[in-house]
Amino acid sequence: MPDEIAPAIHRLATDYPHVCGLPLWLYVIDAGSEVVLLDSGIASTPESSTAPELAALGMGLSDLTLVVNSHAHPDHMGGNAVLQKHSRARFAAPALEAGWLEDNERLLTELWGSDPDAMELSEDERSELLGMLDDRVRIDVLLRDGDRLPGDRPLQVITTSGHSPGHIAVLDEPSRTLFTFDDVQGRGRPFLDSAVWLAPLYTDVIRYTNGLRRLLELDFDALVPSHGDPVDATAGRALIEASLAWVNDVDTLTAELLRTQGSLTVRDLAGAIGTDLGPYGGINLQTVRMARAHLEHLARRGAAEPRWHSRD
Ligand SMILES: [Zn+2]
Repeated sequence: MPDEIAPAIHRLATDYPHVCGLPLWLYVIDAGSEVVLLDSGIASTPESSTAPELAALGMGLSDLTLVVNSHAHPDHMGGNAVLQKHSRARFAAPALEAGWLEDNERLLTELWGSDPDAMELSEDERSELLGMLDDRVRIDVLLRDGDRLPGDRPLQVITTSGHSPGHIAVLDEPSRTLFTFDDVQGRGRPFLDSAVWLAPLYTDVIRYTNGLRRLLELDFDALVPSHGDPVDATAGRALIEASLAWVNDVDTLTAELLRTQGSLTVRDLAGAIGTDLGPYGGINLQTVRMARAHLEHLARRGAAEPRWHSRD
């Protein structure tokens, strides 16, 4: 039976732990005139998990009227096409990420393919990702900072950016429940059956830290992430502070390596972040995107110089 984490808000289990080795929770909210689902999981999630979870609450996929995608990553929007098949729900998502939400090729190129010297997807990885993403659906409601979600319940949209360029948080004002999805990452999190941790992921240092500071300013009683359990305000604030401290650690490592080595590639730095700062498995999407973000951050401050050189 799904937990009721706040009045008329239930959290729904998913198949993600079995598929990708990480917890992932979705949330269904009774918002009066709307039945809202926060995130849609991967392509397999609606039929394997969301339908039975809703059935335990006396509902079905066809009862959903609004699906909100917090950001354009496969585990948060891959279920959209299947939900569209089973319901008349409208889809709402950050305006800043409409391009990624509606175009898989663009997402793969701009997110996974940003630094081909550091990382390139194999054909198998590509098809695995496309399998989790499924077909894209058109986003009906483009969300901007300060918007309220449709419905009779005051659910406020806060643009945090950071983990993903347009990432949003949602605050349920009556219960002061703050859904942060993937934006408050601390120092990453362990995979369920492995010694390796998933590193934090962000694409812009300033936007990530500004978003975290905005969350610190909000009045909330519970902080609810997608890949973990809800925590109270004290633990939530500590997790936000730990996320900020992590950014500082990567910034220090970046400046130090650049000073001692003279020059640095995204690949060099990703490898260092992924081994020196913890058991993050070296070079992967998370460490590559952080490496690029921190090098760009130094360049914008005038403390480093980006260069291209010919291989011919
Ligand atoms: Zn996620």
